[in-house]
Amino acid sequence: MKKISLLLSLFILVSCSKEMNQELTPDELTIYTSRQPQLLEPILEKFSEETGIKVNLLSGNAQELMERIVIEDDKSRADIFMTVDAGVLWQAAERNIFSETKSEVLEANIPSYLRDPSGKWFGLSKRARTIVYSDDQFSEGDFSTYEDLANPKWKGKLCLRTSKKVYNRSLIASMIDAYGFDKAKKVVAGWVSNLTTEVFSNDTNALKAVSSGQCGVTIVNTYYLARLLDDPKYDNLKLFWANQDDRGVHVNISGAGIVKSSKNKEDAQILLEYLSSERAQDFYASANKEYPVLDSASVDDSIKGWGDFLEDGINVSKLGVLQKEAVFIAQETGYK
Ligand code: FE
Repeated sequence: MKKISLLLSLFILVSCSKEMNQELTPDELTIYTSRQPQLLEPILEKFSEETGIKVNLLSGNAQELMERIVIEDDKSRADIFMTVDAGVLWQAAERNIFSETKSEVLEANIPSYLRDPSGKWFGLSKRARTIVYSDDQFSEGDFSTYEDLANPKWKGKLCLRTSKKVYNRSLIASMIDAYGFDKAKKVVAGWVSNLTTEVFSNDTNALKAVSSGQCGVTIVNTYYLARLLDDPKYDNLKLFWANQDDRGVHVNISGAGIVKSSKNKEDAQILLEYLSSERAQDFYASANKEYPVLDSASVDDSIKGWGDFLEDGINVSKLGVLQKEAVFIAQETGYK
């Protein structure tokens, strides 16, 4: 009981329409999400206008929201669980939170590698994690792959975010899939021995360390770079698309699935289909300067200059499957 009230106190309740009613009407949906409400509210308001389906948002930490859905069981108000990183969505599926959704619209709009093979969750935006360097120190021709950053020539030049962040665990998982455990471990060990300084708690601080000259290169999600580049102070930061001659750039997702106990799965599916449609994709991806999952949708003007890139086509559910091995590699190599 104490746990439930603690969890309750941690959440901010945001309503996109009227106040959340005690008894939900059938044409009302509730999303439990770790995404920032302001990224979702405009598109959800449009959805409500067009369909008459009201949408409530319950925002919080992904792990806590997942826990809450488990505790609430079939009394949960959650119709949809939405979060970032395939590793987290995979974990939610393992905890039996999702129902399986069969939708021709979702299957047509979302490439198969960006959704769960059994239809439990679907990618709604793509997040590319790649190399960023300072052009005060280096130029494009100096870089090739994530693995090359393990080469001793980068000693004292590399800055990384902590491996405790799921983004890096998923990146390591993608290397395990591509090269096997031993080679992936070697690469991570090489990164660790090339580190300039302690690992950073977030991507933005790693980028700032590159810009200031503390180090020369890092690996980050591109939307963090896009945000910093709004300030001309960080103009020396340059993006490099990694692994373009082999498996492609590591791509992760933000995504969502329909909760098993939802009393309104039909409307929940209509909402997921809407979020995968062109008008929603144009908005949804650009709100956080991510990439749309729908091919025909456009990217935000501010990131168009980075151009097209080859993506790693690994099914993102594998990033979840290999998560434990990735954590093990980080521990074994001293990547904190
Ligand atoms: Fe992020």
